Amino acid sequence: MLRLHDTSSGALQPVEPTTGPFTMYVCGITPYDATHLGHAATYVTFDLVQRQVRDRGHAVRYVQNVTDVDDPLFERADRDGVDFRDLARREVALFREDMTALAVLPPDAYVGVEESMDGIVEKILALWDAGQAYPLPVPGESSVDVYLDLATEPEFGQVSGWTREEMLAVFADRGGDPDRPGKRDRLDPLLWRGARAGEPTWDGGRLGSGRPGWHIECTAITIDHLGMPFDLKGGGTDLVFPHHEMSAAQAYGLGGGAVFARHYAHQAMVAYEGEKMSKSKGNLVLVSRLRHEGIDPMAIRLVLLAQHYRRDWEYTPSLRADAQDRLARWRAALSGNVAPAPQEAVDGIRACLADDLDSAGALAVVDAWADRALAGEGEDPTAAGVLARTLDALLGVRV
Ligand SMILES: [Zn+2]
Repeated sequence: MLRLHDTSSGALQPVEPTTGPFTMYVCGITPYDATHLGHAATYVTFDLVQRQVRDRGHAVRYVQNVTDVDDPLFERADRDGVDFRDLARREVALFREDMTALAVLPPDAYVGVEESMDGIVEKILALWDAGQAYPLPVPGESSVDVYLDLATEPEFGQVSGWTREEMLAVFADRGGDPDRPGKRDRLDPLLWRGARAGEPTWDGGRLGSGRPGWHIECTAITIDHLGMPFDLKGGGTDLVFPHHEMSAAQAYGLGGGAVFARHYAHQAMVAYEGEKMSKSKGNLVLVSRLRHEGIDPMAIRLVLLAQHYRRDWEYTPSLRADAQDRLARWRAALSGNVAPAPQEAVDGIRACLADDLDSAGALAVVDAWADRALAGEGEDPTAAGVLARTLDALLGVRV
């Protein structure tokens, strides 16, 4: 059984389904800039999950969104004088190229907001009609904003387990608007942003023209592509609150209090030069730049796999050098005609990954086998082939 640390319960839990396919949703990028190592860490982590679950014989249905309707995208397009759709198309193409290079298995459905607008509007209207949302007039415009009324969602707070004070401390920094006059609760999340002069808008039917808030975009896409409940929701730890908490609150409303995701898992943050890697700080290590510098994408993947997904870490060039050395050692070990029997290593890799994705432990198992092979141990002519296929299938490392 694959066991993962569940954010919501704070405990290690088996995540495999008892019947049917394993259903997983991972929040996707806002396509206004290139993929950095922090993003890549998230998608490689959930790629390991998918590979583990498949290895155990389950089918997987994996949905990922792309936030192609959101403020940062519009702001960057404005700044650069380009159409936001052209910018999004270009960045999505680069993201997919990066993911392919890193051997990340693609989602079954890669879903944009714009193409999902009807389903999103329908969900907002359902919450409104059920008395779980309320409008606020937009000053100086004839449109309305619509907010979720958190007082109608008693399950709110289950995902993060945070106190109200902890929530309010980060809400404004993470896209919230606690000081908007007229809100019933400062934490109520925006469901629909009414039209404002100069902003892109869509037809919201009875909502009027405008565009959806970020959280309801993911909620609606999840429900329309996976249903609820589903098995695993994932993303970076910076999405625990408000994004995943608010998405769940909306889904409880839509599902009449049902469970949304059975499990939540979150990738820790990656730092560079002393601070969390982020677009706003500009301290990014881009996957595409490393690739263009000639770094083997498998070495980039090994940099990520050498870290546990639940521990924050800082990227340094020496980590990259270590990964390049490791890859070269593995390739040398796998190029011999005979080598130590592989089964113990295969079992060891499986056991490490099943234990909350101990990828660093799995790499150490391969290192130990490679050391023995390079020392001339073993006489198994099939070992290298078996181990190479195992590394490909379970770790996504192609040697
Ligand atoms: Zn999301």
